[in-house]
Amino acid sequence: MRLAFYALTSCEGCLTTLITNLGPNVEVLWKMFDIDYFKLVREPVGGTRIPKADIAFVEGAVVTDRDRRTLTEIRKNSSFVVALGTCASSGNIAYAASRDVDFEAKHLRDLEISPAEPLSSLVAVDFELSGCPVSAEEFTEALLRLINSIEPIQPDFSVCYECKSKGNPCLLDAKKVCLGPLAMGGCGAACPTVGSACYSCRGPAMEADLKAYLLTLEKKGIGKEKALMMLRMFTGKKAKELLKDGR
Ligand code: SF4
Ligand code: SF4
Ligand code: SF4
Repeated sequence: MRLAFYALTSCEGCLTTLITNLGPNVEVLWKMFDIDYFKLVREPVGGTRIPKADIAFVEGAVVTDRDRRTLTEIRKNSSFVVALGTCASSGNIAYAASRDVDFEAKHLRDLEISPAEPLSSLVAVDFELSGCPVSAEEFTEALLRLINSIEPIQPDFSVCYECKSKGNPCLLDAKKVCLGPLAMGGCGAACPTVGSACYSCRGPAMEADLKAYLLTLEKKGIGKEKALMMLRMFTGKKAKELLKDGR
């Protein structure tokens, strides 16, 4: 089976996380699969060549014309495309941050860039692995499923579920905004477990209910402005549908 790992416009943190967290299993990856292209590890000399692959993992958002050309080529040459991380899945912070930028301004026009988009705005994406950075465990699980011809699955629970299972005190009770009820679980409630608010870096939970969440904030005497700002800022394009209910 042929795998390929690419990075569009990104911090390359997802690929770095995979390499560092897989540890000795990276060698297993090399032995088990044909990997012609692994950004940061094995790149063909002489520019980006997009090899044929059974599964392509793509990190980063689509920002430059080069991203667009590369992604179109990746889609053409890959049977299954996985968005790797929140930038690729939702556009992440860059999505919101680039909405008000005038890309027609002269100093930007020459750079051939436009507002950041997730991969799915340009091509069909077969599966999305969220997380900033992506989780090496979720990557491994998805890969194991795919090589056994089983469809990978998303966690169907929220960060709150994991947080409460750990017995953490709820930040909402301390009048702090936390997006845990709206956020897709799977990270083990990493942030609230150390006392920091969840900002939903993994995107919305499957059954995220913004109206119910805003009602909870109201009952606890917490203003909704910060929560909506955090959603817009960190949930990228996926915030759009959710926010229709919260305005
Ligand atoms: S999802 Fe986070 S870690 Fe991954 S490329 Fe984007 S900013 Fe970097
Ligand atoms: S701290 Fe956040 S994630 Fe934890 S239970 Fe409260 S709202 Fe949910
Ligand atoms: S707790 Fe929220 S912000 Fe923190 S890693 Fe999990 S989803 Fe991301």
